[in-house]
Amino acid sequence: MVADLAVLVHVAPAEAASLEMAFIITGSCIGTTDGACVDVCPVDCIYSKKGDNHLFINQDECIDCAACEPVCPVDAIFPDDEVPESETEYVKEAADYDYDSSEPGLNL
Ligand code: SF4
Ligand code: SF4
Repeated sequence: MVADLAVLVHVAPAEAASLEMAFIITGSCIGTTDGACVDVCPVDCIYSKKGDNHLFINQDECIDCAACEPVCPVDAIFPDDEVPESETEYVKEAADYDYDSSEPGLNL
């Protein structure tokens, strides 16, 4: 019985990471990109590289502290489960972004 419960609640580390919430930068950032979020992020998990039109939050590094959300002047940042329907493309963009070829900070 105990063993059965252990099986039921077991979550592999990779799956557990994907279940954690993170914040998402949406399209309103485009055209502003002032880096205010970068300045307050305690773990430097907001990335960009030359040529990007907005910044990206690394979903694996974000600690869900919410510090970036209120400082954005254009309300572009949302918890991933509160992203407006019209902005869900940015959830996929953040997941697919190549963080290895980018750097934390405002590098546009
Ligand atoms: S929620 Fe916190 S850790 Fe995540 S990007 Fe914003 S400031 Fe950084
Ligand atoms: S604070 Fe908002 S507008 Fe400024 S770079 Fe971050 S997400 Fe973009």
